[in-house]
Amino acid sequence: MEELLAPGLGQVRVFLMPDDNKPRKLRYNLGHRRLLTFGGAYSNHIRAVAEAGRRHGIETIGVIRGEEHLPLNPTLAYAVACGMTITYLDRASYRLKHTEEVRARLRAQWGADVAILPEGGSNAAAVRGCAELPGEIGEAYDVICCPVGTGGTLAGISAGLPEGKRALGFAVLKGAGFLADEVARLQREAYGRTWSNWSINLDYHFGGYARSTPALDGFIEEYQVEGIYVAKMLYGILDLVRQGAFAPGTRVVAVITGQPSTPVEAWDAPTGLDSGDPRWRR
Ligand SMILES: *Cc1c(COP(=O)(O)O)cnc(C)c1O
Repeated sequence: MEELLAPGLGQVRVFLMPDDNKPRKLRYNLGHRRLLTFGGAYSNHIRAVAEAGRRHGIETIGVIRGEEHLPLNPTLAYAVACGMTITYLDRASYRLKHTEEVRARLRAQWGADVAILPEGGSNAAAVRGCAELPGEIGEAYDVICCPVGTGGTLAGISAGLPEGKRALGFAVLKGAGFLADEVARLQREAYGRTWSNWSINLDYHFGGYARSTPALDGFIEEYQVEGIYVAKMLYGILDLVRQGAFAPGTRVVAVITGQPSTPVEAWDAPTGLDSGDPRWRR
């Protein structure tokens, strides 16, 4: 793993782990014939679902917030090229997308057997997929950090941590106090229990989702990192280190999410599941 060398780190070591969390979140969600999910027009999750659908021969439907804008942006054009059917939901209905009423309407439209994945893809299966991440790192670290959008990635990393290690998430949304309950809820849904080895820092949202400030813009320029998720986490880590929030000698692994260096296996059928396993049933 590459080590981040930055001024002011002192005795704290920060290692960068490129890892695409979206394939991990989808891995145990692919046992369906038809998959419907939600996202904004630039959603990485929409893109990942479309790609998984193409690779696994699953019919995919992307329900996009707002109105259609033509020509399609690169995210949606890629999704369509992967075979995804794109449809739009006005903002008022989109806000109610997880209510039974809207879900019933979507099932009536797309078939009673359509599997509905939440926005961002965070559900129990996603948590189990992300729980595999810590096992791939070895033991030479103390804290794993990741950006937090909907919380599934953090919930999984926490669940997969060896004894004595901690997970720290950095919220990229403003007013994200609800995320702590959400992470606990996801862990309960996946494993019937919660863990107390994680926390979420809410101080580095820089104005909210996909917002930025001159300070963050400068950071993105300097470190050449993705701006919506990764930059906020890395900025937060460096700032906290300089404030002395980590004990000297702490080894931090920063998960650089959304990197295309995802091992191909992450897209493959999970091993150890036979075709009769409900997690992998078509
Ligand atoms: C979706 C995403 C996240 C956030 O993951 P959650 O499980 O929603 O918290 C972080 N980084 C990137 C690049 C993403 O696409």
